[in-house]
Amino acid sequence: MDYDTYGSTAVELAIALANTERDDPEWARAFLGSHEEWFTAGTSFDLSPGKTHRAAATAELVRSVALAESQADVLDRLNELLALARPRPYATDHDGSLHLHFARQDSPALEQLTTTVAMGLSQVVVQHGWQRLGVCAAENCDDVYVDTSRNASRRYCSNTCASRSTVAAYRARQKTEE
Ligand SMILES: [Zn+2]
Ligand SMILES: [Zn+2]
Repeated sequence: MDYDTYGSTAVELAIALANTERDDPEWARAFLGSHEEWFTAGTSFDLSPGKTHRAAATAELVRSVALAESQADVLDRLNELLALARPRPYATDHDGSLHLHFARQDSPALEQLTTTVAMGLSQVVVQHGWQRLGVCAAENCDDVYVDTSRNASRRYCSNTCASRSTVAAYRARQKTEE
């Protein structure tokens, strides 16, 4: 993927959050731990049940933006998400390359999460269009994705779903020919 044209990989955090399974009550801690690059070192990932619930609401909002079918709906949902953000951006090279982080460095994990997700997602939408967001076309998958391909031709959340669907279509064609 070519992130150069997107300016930030923060949108990937938004997509990952929207696609995360939330069956385990400890899901938020696990999610934050596996995306720690976006959080100030030393930030506590222990979220209270109330904060975990708010993280889930943020995940649902991201999903609803990706599912929206009109620009008016996208704007409503995106602005609802942005209202939760408290941006205080700063530039960093903590991973060797210069990029922006969006939340106050000393803010709690939930604020860093919500702010990063809201800013990353809204940047892509206003710069590249809400049509860049979509839902996986594979059967039995409803994960959302952001399309960073040059010609905006993406239909699946992952290569796994893309090849699974290609195989399924091939088998279906063979069946008809038999
Ligand atoms: Zn970073
Ligand atoms: Zn998929």
